[in-house]
Amino acid sequence: MIDQDLHIHTVYSHGDPAIEPQQTPDLIESLAHARVIGISDHYEYLPPVFDEYRQDLHSRGFWCGCEINTGAEVPQALELPFDYYIYHCRDRDSEYRGAEQLADSGKPVIISHPMAMGADLNRVPTGCYIEVNNRYVWKGDYMAYYTPHLDRFRFVLGSDAHKPNWLNHVYAIYAAERLGIVPTQIFDGPYGSGK
Ligand SMILES: [Zn+2]
Ligand SMILES: [Zn+2]
Repeated sequence: MIDQDLHIHTVYSHGDPAIEPQQTPDLIESLAHARVIGISDHYEYLPPVFDEYRQDLHSRGFWCGCEINTGAEVPQALELPFDYYIYHCRDRDSEYRGAEQLADSGKPVIISHPMAMGADLNRVPTGCYIEVNNRYVWKGDYMAYYTPHLDRFRFVLGSDAHKPNWLNHVYAIYAAERLGIVPTQIFDGPYGSGK
């Protein structure tokens, strides 16, 4: 079992073609692949079902997050009581401003697969966590991308699972070890465990 996975999609991201109908909160609860689980469905699908989403996740001990696609969505997302935010930070002024607004919320903010989004880590607020993403990190020269920033940020691993067989950190653990990264435990225990 891995320590923490806060980047997981479920059927609440129903419009994402990578999602399989089997990827339900029920199944993720049964598989229990991580000690601390957070669900981070795509923000654009969540406002109409937010209360159901949050209650469903919390009742299972899952933390309630979301993944925000653009800076334009940040102000609305900040109005809903998510436990944490995951953010696509593209290489544009408006998108770095979105990262700053999220960081100012005081809630944990994870910059997802930053290399795949072209984010310049020199422009990302250092209070954000930087993800080593199991789905994408192997696609580029992550040693060159992450190495200049190892002392500037805290890091987390994320599966970015859209399907049951993606619920793992196999490559992310390998990449983090090569980089000398010790991932940060953002939440000490399941939601509601008092940790
Ligand atoms: Zn993403
Ligand atoms: Zn994702």
